[in-house]
This record gives sequence, C-alpha cells and structure tokens, in this order.
Amino acid sequence: MSRQSGPYARGRPQRTVCFVITVMIAWQSAGPVWAWGRLGHRVVAEFADRHLSPTVRAEIAEILEPGESLADASTWADENRTRIHGSGPWHFADVPLDEERYNDRLAGSGQIVPKLREFRGILADRRRSPAARREALRFVVHLVGDLHQPLHIGEHHDRGGNTLQIHFYRRKTSLHHLWDDLILEHRTRGEDRWVAELSAIDDPISRSAAMDGTLEEWATGSLHAAQLAYQNPRTGRRIESGETLEDAYYEASLPIVRRQLYLGGSRLAWVLTDALRPE
Ligand SMILES: [Zn+2]
Repeated sequence: MSRQSGPYARGRPQRTVCFVITVMIAWQSAGPVWAWGRLGHRVVAEFADRHLSPTVRAEIAEILEPGESLADASTWADENRTRIHGSGPWHFADVPLDEERYNDRLAGSGQIVPKLREFRGILADRRRSPAARREALRFVVHLVGDLHQPLHIGEHHDRGGNTLQIHFYRRKTSLHHLWDDLILEHRTRGEDRWVAELSAIDDPISRSAAMDGTLEEWATGSLHAAQLAYQNPRTGRRIESGETLEDAYYEASLPIVRRQLYLGGSRLAWVLTDALRPE
C-alpha cells in the first residue's frame, strides 16, 4: 500500500551525488520501498480470490498474463508507478483528518476514488482491448487495497503521515510506513498466515455487510480508521512527532489493520464479481 516513493518523493531535488548514493545503499539494504505494502496487497487479493466464482476466476485468468495470479496483479501498479506518468496521486486521497466524511472535493490532489470508478468501468466493458482491461484489472485490485489503508485517505498536514516521524518500539519510522508495513510485519510476515487470520473472522453475514455501501462510504470508513491511527491510546492524545509507540498502540492498531484487510478483500471480491457479471 506504500505511497512513500510516489507523489512526495518525486520532485524533491536530490542535491548531491552523495545523497543519491546514500539513498541507493539504503534502498538496496531495505529492499524495494513497496515491499511490505506488497504483503498487504497480496493478502487482500488472495482473500478476495477465495470468494470468487469459478466463472469470474476464469475470466480474470484470461485477462491477466499467463501464470499471473490476482496477488501478482495486486502490486503491479506500485511496481510500474514511475512508468505510468502521473499515476502517483491515483493511490490516495488527502482528506483532512477531522472531516466527518469523504467526498471527492476534500480529496486534495489524490484521485483514488474517481480512478477506481474509471478503471472498474474499463474492466466491465468487454468491447475494450485486452491490454486496456488487463491494466484496468491490475489497478482495480491495487486501488481497492490502497483505499483500505487508513493513511491513504486521512491526513493531518503531513502527507498522510509520511512526514510524521515516530519510533515504533526502537525503530525510527513514519506513521505512514508503520501502517503500510510494520504493523503487519510485526504480527507475521507469512501471507498464508494473514489470509488464515482473515478467514478466521469471516462469515457470510460479515462479508455481505462489508460489501454494502459506495466507494465514498468505504473511503469514509478508512478516514475514521485514520482518526484512530493518529491517536495514542496511552495518552488519549493525537500523536506528535518524535513519540514512541509500543504495546498499547500496537494492540489497538492490529485489530484495525486486520479489519481493513478483511474489508478490502471482501469488497474486492464484490467489485470484481459485479464488474465481470455475465452480459
Ligand atoms: Zn499504491
């Protein structure tokens, strides 16, 4: 779900060769910056895949490259972000944290909701070229995931928590990165274990409740989750730069992460089933 390599990194002058080399070394040692966002996306896609009909799954296999799973497709938009000019803002909306509800006018430069609508329309249109539908499918899978990362929706003058530096236990990081990656990673790095966790909280009533609502209402749910993400449960106050977040924060956040992944996966299954219904 990472966006930290996207709209904000771009355009920042890299002033010296030394800086570039430092960044390259850090990047190589840390792996690609979307690495743990990758875990969240893959879990959402794998959970969705379990709830598709054989017919929908067969059409998806026809649209994607041979051997490309829905989970593989889920990270394509991050991996190709620099190649697809102008796509950085498609991954988020910057809604002021204290707003009650999402709407497109509050989204700042972020375009996740309108782009999701647009790509869903292309995917559903069987007159479009196979290449256009393939790209649309990859974006739909990715953007439904991003829509459920709270800090891709709510923000507090800090680029969705990207510039809010905190410590997670002893590790220095940003609030955004914590929610993209570190809370998931702290629980387990195993995709299968995460998918099993989502299956453990799944039942038909919860899943059909999750599928209810509009994209705007789904974004509002993420905004409300972001309001909790900015709250330190130990102090009851909004998190400030330099704070250290430990057990109390982790234990409050883990159920939110789990629920957002569950909602994302359930809703992705619904969006795909709806877009690919027989003519
Ligand atoms: Zn993204």
